[in-house]
Amino acid sequence: MTDTTNLDPGEEEAFVSAVDRFLEGEVQPHVREWEHEDFYPHDIVAHMKEMGLFGCTIRAEYGGLGLPTRTYARLMERMSRVWMSLAGIVNSHLIMAMAVQNNGTEEQRRRFLPRFATGELRGGVGLTEPDCGTDLQAIRTVARREGDHYVVNGSKTWITNSLHGNCIALLVKTDPRAEPRHRGMSLFIAEKRDGFKVVRKLDKLGYKGIDTCELLF
Ligand SMILES: Cc1cc2nc3c(=O)[nH]c(=O)nc-3n(C[C@H](O)[C@H](O)[C@H](O)COP(=O)(O)OP(=O)(O)OC[C@H]3O[C@@H](n4cnc5c(N)ncnc54)[C@H](O)[C@@H]3O)c2cc1C
Repeated sequence: MTDTTNLDPGEEEAFVSAVDRFLEGEVQPHVREWEHEDFYPHDIVAHMKEMGLFGCTIRAEYGGLGLPTRTYARLMERMSRVWMSLAGIVNSHLIMAMAVQNNGTEEQRRRFLPRFATGELRGGVGLTEPDCGTDLQAIRTVARREGDHYVVNGSKTWITNSLHGNCIALLVKTDPRAEPRHRGMSLFIAEKRDGFKVVRKLDKLGYKGIDTCELLF
């Protein structure tokens, strides 16, 4: 997270109030119906893009709002109170963005962050696998280098934003024999293309609307 914002404190408060009005006016009246019907709110997501919510913690120099963590926490609290699924649509996406902002190279930041900020590229994090959740060092998805690219083989499950999104921060093993095991792991930013297959959307008891899927690479 960052404290480099391009909004002054008054504008920040105005932004939080605008999000409140949006949640109360456009989301709250429909939540019961959308949650029960497992309805994906495409129009709401489009409006969230326009508001800049997909870039709210991305630094201003990369096209985001660069909101401070405490303001982001206030926004997440408000969204979760109205419909938790909306918080998941933004939050998983921004976890992916923060991985690039905090750990990527400058070239990677310039390549991805502006498109994350507008929501042109939208997604989340692909960590969990059918046989591995908490113990992530046990993942079996492998990326093998072939010339100037990598070939990924494996499967992921419970991946939020992976049906309607188009990009995932994908945890893989680049050296499956490494000891300790975490030294052989890498995080790829995988945009959807051939070889990135959404196998099925998972049905859930709650936290519906948001797409959570099985993936095959
Ligand atoms: C709605 C939903 C959305 C999700 N979205 C994503 C997503 O976007 N991306 C993604 O990568 N994953 C996602 N997940 C997966 C989630 O992160 C995993 O479910 C989680 O990591 C736990 O893994 P697991 O379900 O395999 O449980 P397990 O790892 O099998 O754990 C089961 C239980 O055992 C406990 N446990 C495990 N190991 C130990 C230990 N060594 N000592 C003590 N207790 C232990 C755990 O705390 C837990 O209570 C999602 C899951 C759900 C339900």
